[in-house]
Formats: sequence, structure tokens, C-alpha cells
Amino acid sequence: MTDDVSTASWFTALLRGFFRLCPKCGEGRLFQAYLTPEQSCTCCHLNFTRLNADDGPAYITMGLVCLFIVPFFFVIQALYEPPFWLALLISLPLTLLAILGLLPLVKGAFIGALWKSRGED
Ligand SMILES: [Zn+2]
Repeated sequence: MTDDVSTASWFTALLRGFFRLCPKCGEGRLFQAYLTPEQSCTCCHLNFTRLNADDGPAYITMGLVCLFIVPFFFVIQALYEPPFWLALLISLPLTLLAILGLLPLVKGAFIGALWKSRGED
């Protein structure tokens, strides 16, 4: 978190957002609640209201989760041949937990990417 603000790279901005920190300074909190961004950074006063992520993080999260859950489902089916209801009983909660766990992280990284793509100010 000691990077100079003016030299924050794309990777740094994404990583800071991923860890739910301000993409500019890396010290202020990005979210005030689960998915609700703060109005601005408490450290560098970066205005977060103009970095509206909309549905982008949801699409990315669904893509990432499906990338791993669907093959997992097929591997479990091929190896153990569980009844369909048992496969659903395992994969549906796993999918939901993965989505709920990843969504704020992806949204933070997405906001970091938005900030970096719009120019640093
Ligand atoms: Zn900040």
C-alpha cells in the first residue's frame, strides 16, 4: 500500500479493489456494506459515486463460478454417480456460496478497473 498514487498500475488498482480498498490510495474502505460502495474515500477523498459498476461484476462472477462449478458437477457425476437430487443438493449451495463470496471481491476489482480506465484524478 505504499505505491505512489500517480503510479498505481492496472494490477495495483484491480488488487486494491479486490481487497475492498480504495483503488487510488489503497487505504480507505471501498464498501460501506456488502455491495454498497462508500460515497468517497476517507483517506484520499476519491469520489466513488461516479464509478458505477452496474451489472458488470455480476456477469463476471457468474462466468467465473460457472467455469468451475459445471466441470466440478461433471467430475462428481462421472466419479461417484450420485443420484441427481444429491448432486443438486451439493452443487446448488456450493454455487450460491461461491457467488456470494466472490461478488464483492469482483465488484471491488471492477470498480478499480473503472477508476483506472477513466483516468486518475
Ligand atoms: Zn483513497
